[in-house]
Amino acid sequence: MLQYSFAKSGRHFLQIPGPSNVPDRILRAIDRPTIDHRGPEFGVLGKYVLEGMKGIFQTKSPVVIYPASGTGAWEAALVNVLSPGDSVLMYESGQFATLWKNMAVKVGLKPEFIEGDWRRAADPAAIEARLKEDRGHLIKAVCVVHNETSTGCVARIPEIRKAIDRAAHPALLLVDTISSLGSIDYRHDEWGVDVTVGGSQKGLMLPPGISFNALSDKAIAASKNSRSLKSFWGWEEMLTANKNGYFPYTPNTNLLYGLHEAIDMLNEEGLENVFARHNRHAEAARRATRAWGMEVFARLPSEYSGVLTTVMMPDGHNADALRKVILEKFDMSLGQGLGKISGKVFRIGHLGDFNDLMLMGTLSGVEMGLEVAGVPHKKGGAQAAIDYLAECAKAPVALKAAA
Ligand SMILES: *Cc1c(COP(=O)(O)O)cnc(C)c1O
Repeated sequence: MLQYSFAKSGRHFLQIPGPSNVPDRILRAIDRPTIDHRGPEFGVLGKYVLEGMKGIFQTKSPVVIYPASGTGAWEAALVNVLSPGDSVLMYESGQFATLWKNMAVKVGLKPEFIEGDWRRAADPAAIEARLKEDRGHLIKAVCVVHNETSTGCVARIPEIRKAIDRAAHPALLLVDTISSLGSIDYRHDEWGVDVTVGGSQKGLMLPPGISFNALSDKAIAASKNSRSLKSFWGWEEMLTANKNGYFPYTPNTNLLYGLHEAIDMLNEEGLENVFARHNRHAEAARRATRAWGMEVFARLPSEYSGVLTTVMMPDGHNADALRKVILEKFDMSLGQGLGKISGKVFRIGHLGDFNDLMLMGTLSGVEMGLEVAGVPHKKGGAQAAIDYLAECAKAPVALKAAA
């Protein structure tokens, strides 16, 4: 038999910023017989998850579910509303923005990429300035990554919406929330987003394998005029079949059992509480980082991510060597630096099914790893996080779980 892991006791710490830990409740929900996807039982499941996901995206418009990783839903968003040769405005917030831009080229679009240094998220002012220049309205869409998983910077989507409105520009707004949905506050309708792209294996706590497009009326209208070649990704057949809870082709039935459970778990805790928990863990991780004498990669406090903390290595020390030590000695996976910051940073994922003690295990593992790997640092990072979490626990509970 193929050996996936060494004989180790206790649970592996999967502290990459997605895939995240899959809770036992979801694993049990998935562990059921696959049913007839055209039968009556399936229609009930399909309707429940399609309806439930509207709540998670905070939208009244339809949500499309694909049996694909997030990358598939990225492509679906582009090919449903745009046509070959269309200009799209994108912002270089990090590796995921870069990959989406590369995909836009491959599907025949003309992306304009506003350069960024990766230490901040998509800049509303830069987007506004570029749209104001585009008097002929050649730019058909603005595409931004909400939580840039390669850097830990969060784009202020309401500001970007205002920037588009101030420029009085008709471009559609497309947002990637693959790593923020169900972890960081996100409001598809209120923020005037046309297509939101989501994924299963990050904040939604599911295994990889399903992804989403949340739509708007404007996006659905644009899809009627799109000339991009598509079949599998097309919304039209999906929306027709979805009306009764069904899909035009075989859906990922067992992952939909898991999605049903994930929606219930998020609603039981209450989305506000879920977001507050992520922010608390992120603040504790940043305090630990600074106590180690190390620097948080994200530059602006207003863009700090609740999902992950990206830590910069001291000069002359490689992040991947540190991650290797931590994996071997403490059985914990941390996120690697991607693209042009490879080796220079490591990423601590603190998302999904996660609590204070799991965070303390994670930060203790990092602190021990710094010691074992001989990376210069100060003691007391884990202690700084303990102090903060204890302080939070003493405070009266501000938010009540949703009924
Ligand atoms: C993970 C991720 C993707 C890619 O999703 P896959 O499921 O790996 O295809 C895209 N964008 C962001 C922001 C991500 O975090």
